[in-house]
Amino acid sequence: MTRVFNFCAGPAALPEPVLERAAAEMLDWHGTGMSFMEMSHRSPEVVGVAEAAEAALRRLLGISEDFAVLFAQGGASTQFAAVPLNLAAGGGHFDYANTGQWSRKAMAEGQRYGEVREVVQSAGAPVAVPAQAQWQPSDGAAFLHYTPNETIDGVEFSWVPEAEVPLVADMSSTILSRPLDVDAFDVIYAGAQKNIGPAGLTLLIVRRDLYGRSVDHCPTMLNWQRIDEAGSMLNTPPTYAIYLAGLVFDWLEEQGGLAAMEKRNRRKAETLYGFIDGSDFYANPVAIEWRSLMNIPFTLATADLDKRFLGEAEKAGLMNLKGHRSVGGMRASIYNATGQEAVDALVQFMQEFERRHG
Ligand code: PMP
Repeated sequence: MTRVFNFCAGPAALPEPVLERAAAEMLDWHGTGMSFMEMSHRSPEVVGVAEAAEAALRRLLGISEDFAVLFAQGGASTQFAAVPLNLAAGGGHFDYANTGQWSRKAMAEGQRYGEVREVVQSAGAPVAVPAQAQWQPSDGAAFLHYTPNETIDGVEFSWVPEAEVPLVADMSSTILSRPLDVDAFDVIYAGAQKNIGPAGLTLLIVRRDLYGRSVDHCPTMLNWQRIDEAGSMLNTPPTYAIYLAGLVFDWLEEQGGLAAMEKRNRRKAETLYGFIDGSDFYANPVAIEWRSLMNIPFTLATADLDKRFLGEAEKAGLMNLKGHRSVGGMRASIYNATGQEAVDALVQFMQEFERRHG
């Protein structure tokens, strides 16, 4: 068996020890004679695994009981609607920081439920986000939404915005990549398929004193308070995805937690950005202080070479480097499970490619 180096933006690479353990437990989970997938979600085994996963996540991120940890479905995209539905009971409008393509998707969906106001927009070449002193928050907004890491644009905040209103963060592509001060937020949501586990699970961390702000027509399945009261089991949850996420959380704790992951992730990113910046053949479009640790878009000297680059990379076992269809070029996503050896192999390939085609 040969495992390739996988740079997919999501669903993304999972830690190999996690996959090995899941494979070993596949047919007979802990002597039950059943796969974990085949068990009732109401069984003590499944409830126990979900509770252990939540406890591990609370340890990793230092989440207090002021916050609910919810295992939901529908992906981060469903939360684009759930956010206004859970927070807009008092009416008002919604503030959004527009820092890239995922911000704009959130705004487009938010528009269906109320007036969307853009408080800031990323701009420039290289791309940057204006300092918060230049943002224009509006009085009486129901919330301020932002995207700490723009998966497509490769733009990442290194600071947390201050907000007078509930601060909502789409952390899909940055959560668990580094330590996080959860108390600085009110709502955090993330699709699981990058740093958490397989697709099909959506993680929510919600400040409980926001309950009571949902609009009357908020669907029960999207209502954070209802999900919390039902222990994330309003209906049949994605049990296998929760189990795998629990294995990922265990793996992260074994690695030394999020401070250790941050160190590794910084080194990986420095390796790739350092190489790109030192070359005239490759380029990254983002201002240095706004560069993502997780998603690194880059272009080649001419777009004519893109196809050849991707074909040769695949032959070298470097997969899923194609940039998002909306921007073209390349993108290397280097989440927790994609190690330094993958980045080193990529840089070596890029060097050789440049030598042959530059
Ligand atoms: N927000 C961000 C920042 C993302 O990267 C993605 C997926 N790539 C989404 C939202 C959408 O997530 P999902 O597919 O889980 O709806």
